[in-house]
Amino acid sequence: MGVPATMKAVRLSEYGQPEVLQYIEVPVPEIEPDEVLVRVRGTSVTRWDLRYRQGLLTPPPGRAALPLPFQLGRDTAGEVQAVGAEVRRFKPGDRVVAMTCPACGGCEYCKRGLDNLCTDIALPGHQRFGAYAQYVCRKETELLHAPDSLSFEKLACLLWSYSTVWHMAIERGRLRPGQDVLVTAASGGMGTAAIQIAKLAGAARIVALTGSANKVAPLQKLGASHVLNYREENVPARIAEITNGLGVDLALENVGGEMLPLCMQCLRMDGTLVSAGQHGGRFCSVDVELLYRRHLNVLGTRGATRHEQQFVLSLAGEGSLDPVISHCLPLAEAAEAHRILERQEQFGKIVLLP
Ligand SMILES: [Zn+2]
Repeated sequence: MGVPATMKAVRLSEYGQPEVLQYIEVPVPEIEPDEVLVRVRGTSVTRWDLRYRQGLLTPPPGRAALPLPFQLGRDTAGEVQAVGAEVRRFKPGDRVVAMTCPACGGCEYCKRGLDNLCTDIALPGHQRFGAYAQYVCRKETELLHAPDSLSFEKLACLLWSYSTVWHMAIERGRLRPGQDVLVTAASGGMGTAAIQIAKLAGAARIVALTGSANKVAPLQKLGASHVLNYREENVPARIAEITNGLGVDLALENVGGEMLPLCMQCLRMDGTLVSAGQHGGRFCSVDVELLYRRHLNVLGTRGATRHEQQFVLSLAGEGSLDPVISHCLPLAEAAEAHRILERQEQFGKIVLLP
């Protein structure tokens, strides 16, 4: 297959409103001998994209600063267009996804099996160009063969949301069959993934929190046993009713701000809260007495291991996980995709098709 000289891409050269996302013509990147050129068929929009665009993202400990001009896009789904001379595992035409956390394998954290915390890594869509483009290059070791059973649209929603939530719920939260789970921002990409993963893991009750009345029915359809509107209901009191006065075993919390202490009040003794985000605010007040009297576990989580990324891909390939897609838009409408996510009009993921 021939490779054109230029391609369409969406880039930002300054921070600001969605209008800073410019749909432009740029050269197709050139591959090194160990790299693969991927024709991107889908990428998805995340809250991190919004934060990056607004200039609010700070690099995690040990990682490089965030560059400008920049090309967003954490997830990459597509086909191999061309391969470098040293590439052995992929050939033109192969369907692939690019790992969203392509760990180095050699740093202190990778050596301890914590490769989600890899420090020798440039994250696609954070430290190096993401997939808001028709073509990206990736090292052979960063790609995974994609199951034929999944569309590019679904593949574009999978690794970032699902493997992150898998690590959050299963590895950090130790979710076990029969447990009761609380999911915040339930209609978002992580929230819909959390409901599916909790269901797959055998959770008893899955309580979903939303602020929109029109998202109640779709959340029930997805597998939430109870849906609470946190704007209108006394959430800790309702959780107590639902769980016979005990509270939930696990809260999967990705909002931050005042949502975090609210969820702590919903935990049973020895319950666990895992925090994965802060779009609702970076700081909050914690009731220390609640923390020790209830013997609570409050944990953070970040990213996913290589194994978890491969694992969620396999689970989706066999139909056990099925990403919920809210909108599919052409890449040229990236700014509109950001507006939809900012207005929280989506249910599930927003996909861009380059
Ligand atoms: Zn590493």
